[in-house]
Amino acid sequence: MATNIRIGLGYDLHRTEVGRPLVLANITIPHERGLHGHSDADVVLHALIDALTGAAGLPDVGELFPNTDPRYKGINSAELIAATMRQFAETGGQIVNLDVVVIAEKPKLAPFKAAMRQRLAELLGITPDRVNLKAKTGEGVDACGRQEAIACHCVVLIEKPAA
Ligand code: MG
Repeated sequence: MATNIRIGLGYDLHRTEVGRPLVLANITIPHERGLHGHSDADVVLHALIDALTGAAGLPDVGELFPNTDPRYKGINSAELIAATMRQFAETGGQIVNLDVVVIAEKPKLAPFKAAMRQRLAELLGITPDRVNLKAKTGEGVDACGRQEAIACHCVVLIEKPAA
């Protein structure tokens, strides 16, 4: 039987802001700087949505959930993932695996990686062995390195029904 696999790539970056909560992969991480944004500014979930919709041929996160729409102000991005997964389910696709790279100079994310992986798996309805997550720094250079921003890259592999 022919496989019908597709890959999607997502990327997002948000500026840091003192006093905002830091939410990454739907986990709130104690830190003096959170991320600026219309929603909860969860860069991991936003990159994930773009990877998933990219693989599935669906509209991207900005088209699905415009940051000018007051409905999405301050929204928990888990709700955006749920809405994306409803659309994805209609395509008949299934997630094979995802790989995530978070770029944050601070805080150190190692203590939170297991919880972030687990939460991503829960949100997507897959087992954690299909989710990988790495944390990198910006080596003190560029916006991430200077703690002005946190970024995320994500790739998702999906299998669509045989064409
Ligand atoms: Mg975003």
